[in-house]
Amino acid sequence: MPESLSELKALSENLLYAWDRHIRGLFWRMDTALWERCGHNPKVFLRRISQQRIDELAGNAAFLEEYQYVLGLFRTYRDQTSRPSALVAEKLDSEQGLIAYFCAEYGLHESLPLYSGGLGILAGDHCKAASGLGLPFVAVGLMYRQGYFRQQIERDGSQKALFQPHDLRDLPITLVCDDNDAPLQIVVPLPGRDVVVQIWRAEIGHLALYLLDTDVEGNDEADCSITFQLYGGDKKRRIEQELVLGVGGVRALRALGLEPSVWHVNEGHAAFLMVERCREAIAAGTTFEAGLEQVAAATVFTTHTPVAAGHDVFEHDLAAAYLAPYAKAMNLPLEQLLALGQSEQNQTAFNMTTLALRASRYQNAVSRIHRGVTAEMEAHIWPQVPIDESPLQYVTNGVHVQTFLSRQWSYFFDMHAPGWRARQCDHHFWHDLVASIPDQQFWLQRMSIKADMLDYVGNCLARQYRRQGVGEAHIERRLAMLKPTFGRDPMVLVFARRFATYKRATLLLRDAARLAALLNDPERPVILLFAGKAHPADEPGQALIRALVEQSQQPEFAGKLFVLEDYDLAMGRQLVAGADVWLNTPLYPMEACGTSGQKAGLNGALNVSVLDGWWGEGFQGDNGWAITPYNHSDPEQRDHYEAEDLLDLLEDEVIPLYFNRGHFGYSPGWVARAKASMYTVLPHFNAQRMLLNYIENLYIPATRHGRRLARDNGKPAAELVAWKQRVADAWPGVTLSRSNGRPEQIDSGEPLELHIEVQLQGLSAEDLRLECVMTRVRDDGETEAGICCLLAPENGENGTAIYRLAEPIEVPGRYEYQVRAYPHHPMLAHPFETGLMRWL
Ligand SMILES: *Cc1c(COP(=O)(O)O)cnc(C)c1O
Repeated sequence: MPESLSELKALSENLLYAWDRHIRGLFWRMDTALWERCGHNPKVFLRRISQQRIDELAGNAAFLEEYQYVLGLFRTYRDQTSRPSALVAEKLDSEQGLIAYFCAEYGLHESLPLYSGGLGILAGDHCKAASGLGLPFVAVGLMYRQGYFRQQIERDGSQKALFQPHDLRDLPITLVCDDNDAPLQIVVPLPGRDVVVQIWRAEIGHLALYLLDTDVEGNDEADCSITFQLYGGDKKRRIEQELVLGVGGVRALRALGLEPSVWHVNEGHAAFLMVERCREAIAAGTTFEAGLEQVAAATVFTTHTPVAAGHDVFEHDLAAAYLAPYAKAMNLPLEQLLALGQSEQNQTAFNMTTLALRASRYQNAVSRIHRGVTAEMEAHIWPQVPIDESPLQYVTNGVHVQTFLSRQWSYFFDMHAPGWRARQCDHHFWHDLVASIPDQQFWLQRMSIKADMLDYVGNCLARQYRRQGVGEAHIERRLAMLKPTFGRDPMVLVFARRFATYKRATLLLRDAARLAALLNDPERPVILLFAGKAHPADEPGQALIRALVEQSQQPEFAGKLFVLEDYDLAMGRQLVAGADVWLNTPLYPMEACGTSGQKAGLNGALNVSVLDGWWGEGFQGDNGWAITPYNHSDPEQRDHYEAEDLLDLLEDEVIPLYFNRGHFGYSPGWVARAKASMYTVLPHFNAQRMLLNYIENLYIPATRHGRRLARDNGKPAAELVAWKQRVADAWPGVTLSRSNGRPEQIDSGEPLELHIEVQLQGLSAEDLRLECVMTRVRDDGETEAGICCLLAPENGENGTAIYRLAEPIEVPGRYEYQVRAYPHHPMLAHPFETGLMRWL
């Protein structure tokens, strides 16, 4: 490498290239064909590019100028060190410590294939946004040598899963070494042995992602392969991976000298980190209970799906075998440790989500609807608390705009509003900017992005068909529709997501004849693209792919309906950028959030989706279309109705609007909707907004709470534990009764008198809080939330207390009221944390 180009290496080693299009553009320009052949992997690219080409570029003034420009951008980003941007500075305490983020998968870029789907991409977006905000942040994951599988689809529609080992030198990671340049290693106890783990480091802008790897000399062959595959293997392999991630992750951060003040656990996969931190606390001299209380105080847990496959449950014997070394190290009866993952419904097996909920005080779901579903599923954690008031919060997911906004739109905004990256969450800015684009220009821009996407898709499909042995003439005929000519562009519907059955990829095909009629109108050409992987063990998911491929070969669908193989981030970016309509048909309420529709929406595609997940919050009437889920007990009937609604929508509204071309060849009504999609989705459903919500509602409170309980060697935590025990023992005997009469009627201006006598069972009056909860009864008989009034105690006789309304209530109209009591302590993270509540 000539001296003048030596910094290309630095550009290839920081994943900033995953979202900085200027950096990728530079590599692309150096040798476009090679860049594509190398799978957009800069390290491989720089190794393979010919010396002749390099020398040529080193003497090319125009290239050098661009190189210097990109290098300048890179340095500027890199040197804006970890000072939080003004936006965050407002929200962050000066003392906000390090946030440690744990996840089993990370989807940052196709060159680092450590992801399978939504969870991984979200984790990647979270990290990218954290780098952008300059947060003190570190991420921990596993280094899967074989990553997730590459998918091939055969001619008959069967899926072939290829796990290919990577040469780790090809990936944008470096091995972490100690001061003597020897690989830094830690150990993770597994039954009868210690597994040695080494650590890789990936640079994500300002922050580091540490990846744990058991393929180390000294481990036996089976242990070397623990971290080979993402979501491969059986339950035993899974618990081994999760111990390496959770326990190994904590040990790795300690070995690196990092002291997080908040631990963010994503899905139960990483929940063993709580066990390891309890072990540390016990080793430092606390009790198990007080240690757990301290650990939980500084822990945020996010649950990402209601689907059972997302919640690991280990058989009792398996969990017992693997947790035994930890119980021993903690000097704890094994059953006590196992109890953390058990519940009333689930008395023997070990549920990782249950562990995570018990050992965290800050918990969230990933959309409003998902919060309700999860609060119901996990109600056993707070058994007496109404679902609506469950301590479970939600932070709706968002996507990383710089990653998923198409190249063409990014450059367009660079030209017309250069500060747009810093104003991601500014609704007015986006409204005004997008509204100001002339309609015709907006349409042309979208058509040009779509043409690029169809070109990409055509190349992918041609490669796929050739491999399947389809003849050239046939390929050409089949792909004819993907080459639009001006004024006769097809409308493109896309369904791209994992083929999990709840996503119902084939819903649209329930009435195949009707769909065929829609696709085959010569005046209104419509094409339908499907892409996605099914987990290798998911037979029903693979059957969906087969069904789609079979349909795609029927005469009425050939050349109109396509199934693309090997959906990944690179393909995802293309599809979300160029789709006209983004389809999503999940089975309500199983789509926790869904993020691909957000990516499409911010590019100006229109979502046509079941009102589930994020779309329940994002749909505003004019920014896409919604299918209302049917609440029908018969699944067949429900699917039938929803499929019918979907086809009605497409036939009556979506397709006619798209082809309703005005004088200038574009559809003004469509442009209005596409603009609304862009300026409503982009400023809200982005990763920066998501991260700001996490900071405000979870990270900052958890940091404070963790520090508060850890003071004086954890004395407050020990006190809180003792108090909780006292309350739990007394609670079954605590009773409420009304000691004054119930008035027949209260006239306006007259106060409501409430005297409630409470049997305290040895608790003090301050240990309880009594409230009068008022619900307004409307004229139509429906109720709506009213107010909640505090009752103040006076000492009564014989271990009782009398509580009266602290302030007179004066509310006109008809109300229902109920009195409730729950334990109260100033050091609780949430008023209902104990899960105890009693109603009168
Ligand atoms: C965004 C994304 C996903 C997740 O999207 P869903 O809407 O949850 O299906 C999966 N895979 C890739 C490649 C993505 O970019």
